[in-house]
Amino acid sequence: KESTLAMIKPDGLNYTDDVKRIVNDFGFSILRELTVQLDEDEVKVFYSEHSKRSFFPNLVKYMTSGPVFVMVLEKVNAVSDWRDLIGPTDARKAKITHPHSIRAMCGLDSERNCVHGSDSLQSATREISFFFRRIVST
Ligand code: ATP
Repeated sequence: KESTLAMIKPDGLNYTDDVKRIVNDFGFSILRELTVQLDEDEVKVFYSEHSKRSFFPNLVKYMTSGPVFVMVLEKVNAVSDWRDLIGPTDARKAKITHPHSIRAMCGLDSERNCVHGSDSLQSATREISFFFRRIVST
């Protein structure tokens, strides 16, 4: 089994119950969960790979605009299965090409896309330990 980090971003918090229903329906176990208000420095570390991108200042504002809800999800193929469920980065496109995806349900555009999922096992390990110090490996 694998673990992945799933996050409901500030614009998606109203959809927490819907997202958790999908999590359960698709057979993920929720190992840990946490609601937390990130500060600017924390977002800069979490999304450091994007620090040179033009959208980065907006991303920091968006991600600090309210609390986020993070979950450690476990199942076979958790990383890629969760990425498939959330759909493409641009929620506007997701509504057309992946109408049943989570981002189609609660996202707005390429920035405000309401959820996050680790993009690899390596990212999952880093992101899980970012939020949950006591879980060290996936
Ligand atoms: P995430 O890492 O949040 O799961 P992702 O892997 O689908 O999303 P990334 O390319 O890693 O997409 O971008 C990280 C986040 O930065 C996106 O989820 C989105 O909120 C924001 N972002 C990405 N591209 C843009 C853009 N062109 N304009 C504004 N914001 C963007």
